[in-house]
Amino acid sequence: GLHPWQQALRAQFPIITGHPELAYLDSAATAQKPRAVLDAVQTYLTTGNANSARGTYTWANRTTELVERTRERVARFLGDDRPERSAVHFTSGATEGLRTIARDWLPGFLRDGDEIVVPDADHRANIEPWLEAQRLLAGAGVRVRVVPMPYQSGSGDYDHRALAERAGPRTRFVAATHVHHVYGGDMNVHRIRGAVGPDAVICLDAAQSVGHLPVSVAELDVDFVVFSGHKALALPGSGAVWARQERGPAFVPGGWSGTPNTVGIASLEAALDWLDAAGVERIERWTAGLAARLTDGLRRLDAYEVLGCPLSLAADSTVQRRRGIVTLRHRAVESGDLGFVLFSHGFMVRSDNHCQGDAGEKTGSVRVSLHVYNTVEEIDRLLSVLASLS
Ligand code: PMP
Repeated sequence: GLHPWQQALRAQFPIITGHPELAYLDSAATAQKPRAVLDAVQTYLTTGNANSARGTYTWANRTTELVERTRERVARFLGDDRPERSAVHFTSGATEGLRTIARDWLPGFLRDGDEIVVPDADHRANIEPWLEAQRLLAGAGVRVRVVPMPYQSGSGDYDHRALAERAGPRTRFVAATHVHHVYGGDMNVHRIRGAVGPDAVICLDAAQSVGHLPVSVAELDVDFVVFSGHKALALPGSGAVWARQERGPAFVPGGWSGTPNTVGIASLEAALDWLDAAGVERIERWTAGLAARLTDGLRRLDAYEVLGCPLSLAADSTVQRRRGIVTLRHRAVESGDLGFVLFSHGFMVRSDNHCQGDAGEKTGSVRVSLHVYNTVEEIDRLLSVLASLS
């Protein structure tokens, strides 16, 4: 059927409309950009490019305003109802955001004998920085115990009950992921606070959720949110850390006085405006609907296995819901070969082990990840190509 809302939005992505023979199914790696974002970059660079917080002239002042305004924009986009108590720091992406917290903030927060919870089957970007901080602290004589985040076997969701059993009074920091980049499930992070208590700091890797579904720091009760701009329709090299600043020392990263990526920030402001106007909840419903259509189709094909999250769109908050990511394996065809065959039909997917931590999948897989520009027709065409290989 026709979906005028989606068609109007898809029409705003020049790279998508310019390549009707291709289907971009790799938005979890990076998303395509709507014209409004490209225009904002062009406007910034042709009407007022300058360094921020430096000048006594209009271009510099406008850049300073852009940076400040986008800080507020990010806080508002994340449902922060008390922005005066939080800080927003711009980074080059989620990896740098997580590393900055681990290097500049965590060592000053942890004390000898503390425990940190690390999600060892999530993206490496949300594992390595915490382990590195632990090693550095150990070198300085501060012992920090790493508690692996428990997972439910099969679904890829966190095991929140087991987390509550493992967490004790020395559990002071929890790294978690909002939507898993391989399994595609919403990890029910709103349940973490109840499991770990009021004093622990919760740091959320929202790389796969910002721009895809509503992210509310008030509802999730987290202390840090890290995301990449380039997965949220902004330019590569943009991203942000939102910090609540209530539990532990203030987050004041060292890089703050350097020259910020003003073009990336201009693109991020435009991207968040675009997402708000489009409606993130509708984007969430659209991509989850496409993912459900794909998993339903795959269930009828014996040659394929779908990883992670069981398909359930139930509103029950204790049930894990699949978002716009479906990762699959052919029982006989190696994932690199499958990706190659799919591209010969115009489908751009990711086939490897997706930078997952050591506790994750040992064999490669093919990830199909969706955004607002993807269509029902693309999913049906993908299913028929997959069926022809089974
Ligand atoms: N965390 C998750 C869950 C991701 O999917 C990714 C990107 N693959 C990252 C972190 C790293 O993001 P970036 O590329 O912006 O550094």
